[in-house]
Amino acid sequence: MSLSIIESCVNCWACLDVCPSDAIYEDKPHFMIDAKKCTECEGDFADPQCASICPIEGAILDAAGLALNPPGSLTGIPPEMMDKAMAEIQAR
Ligand code: SF4
Ligand code: SF4
Repeated sequence: MSLSIIESCVNCWACLDVCPSDAIYEDKPHFMIDAKKCTECEGDFADPQCASICPIEGAILDAAGLALNPPGSLTGIPPEMMDKAMAEIQAR
């Protein structure tokens, strides 16, 4: 089982050094996780360290494709409130 990093990653480098398995690497256009190396931190930490430190909601997915930090989980802004604000901004 492995986590994955998707295109919303902003290449901030925060996750690179916290991975106990050296599974994360810099790539274009964003950082990636080597599925052969990722252990989901089992045996080392209670939580996936990359997702724990990642500042971007939705940038890291679990093996089922679900975001480890779903919308609103880091900002505290309910997704529906964010959608409404974005719609208002785009309507200007
Ligand atoms: S879940 Fe753990 S082992 Fe897998 S990439 Fe993230 S920090 Fe590394
Ligand atoms: S911590 Fe998140 S945003 Fe930063 S490099 Fe890793 S996956 Fe990308």
